[in-house]
Amino acid sequence: MGKVLVIGCGGVASVAIHKCCQNSAVFDEICIASRTVSKCEALKEKLEGTTSAKITTAQVDADHTDELIALIEKEKPDVVLNLALPYQDLTIMDACLATKTDYVDTANYEPEDTAKFEYKWQWAYRERYEKAGITALLGSGFDPGVTSVFSAYALKHYFDEINYIDILDCNGGDHGYPFATNFNPEINIREVSAKGSYWEDGHWVETEPMEIKRVYNFPEVGEKDMYLLHHEEIESLALNIPGIKRIRFFMTFGQSYLTHLKCLENVGMTSIEPIMYEGREIVPLQFLKAVLPDPASLGPRTKGKTNIGCIFTGKKDGKEKSIYIYNVCDHQECYKEVGSQAVAYTTGVPAMIGAMMLLTKTWDKKGVYNIEEFDPDPFMDALNKFGLPWKVEENPVLVD
Ligand code: NDP
Repeated sequence: MGKVLVIGCGGVASVAIHKCCQNSAVFDEICIASRTVSKCEALKEKLEGTTSAKITTAQVDADHTDELIALIEKEKPDVVLNLALPYQDLTIMDACLATKTDYVDTANYEPEDTAKFEYKWQWAYRERYEKAGITALLGSGFDPGVTSVFSAYALKHYFDEINYIDILDCNGGDHGYPFATNFNPEINIREVSAKGSYWEDGHWVETEPMEIKRVYNFPEVGEKDMYLLHHEEIESLALNIPGIKRIRFFMTFGQSYLTHLKCLENVGMTSIEPIMYEGREIVPLQFLKAVLPDPASLGPRTKGKTNIGCIFTGKKDGKEKSIYIYNVCDHQECYKEVGSQAVAYTTGVPAMIGAMMLLTKTWDKKGVYNIEEFDPDPFMDALNKFGLPWKVEENPVLVD
């Protein structure tokens, strides 16, 4: 049917590419391009023979728009799936614009020298994408991504108006290390060491990092401590869910993770300010990334489940009601299927589905859109089909 160009070949990309291969009726050609081409070649070798999709590889530095344009012109994909890092979003969007190619990503742009992510940079492309007759689908991972689609689905089928959303991201998995991150350590640590914030009554309320803690008993996982974080889907959901009064995002962390993080912060290891070391400039957080376990290596060691979902409270036919939509994913099952743990799996599957929605023209609006702006139903069906089944629970326990 069509061709996808995947940029990046890390933990999330590996799952998305496995899933594209399983779905070769849609993706009959896959080009894997990344900075380190040997990783692309190793994945190609692993997957060839398991799929009818034709796989090719390429080397690209996605910080350079001209290299990306040359690659897109050579490969002529129907859609570009950006699974590199948030720093590359704009160069890849520029290349898609120049070549009139659809674009999908899972994380919003963040300048490398300021740990501050927001949509303004990518939303600024709206008019140019519309004029070029192409689509950018922003945030097609799990959170943002599936949590945003859950919100559109709840609004479409369960509510006249949603007033409160609590997004709960629980990782009940244990990898056996005292400290490791489940996805790119640099991006992960930047996210969790930043100030928290939530949306209430039309404005942001800022908190100190990890200031707000709650305990929740997660279906199929059990009781966990969770902490309020700033998270990117809050920004777009606040605009796209009419009648919304409050949106919060909570993520679970174990005590060992938090104690190590505090210590690393206190000694300056999580800083993104460059320092001089033996005559050479280094960024402490990038050095820390180099000594931490590679998230891709956690797959065989991680046991337990994730539970990610949203609790919605709102009105239907004049009555107040609440529902909880969530997915539970088992780390070991994911590893058996695609050789990765559940955090990469829960992001890679929706990334593939987002690319499929555009490639098949199931979603066909020109411009730059967040994922909750499309019809959620075909995406929800695809989640059930491709390994992320979801449940709807009526009257869940609410978070205070
Ligand atoms: P990894 O670090 O495992 O992989 C990143 C990949 O991008 C690597 O292959 C890396 O290449 C490549 N890359 C980095 N810079 C460049 C560049 N300049 N040019 C070309 N390739 C480059 O990260 P993850 O797979 O964990 O995360 C991928 C994305 O998914 C991130 O943007 C992350 O924020 C997002 N994410 C989204 C989630 C969601 O639910 N929405 C959840 C988790 C992650 P190399 O091998 O050379 O380092």
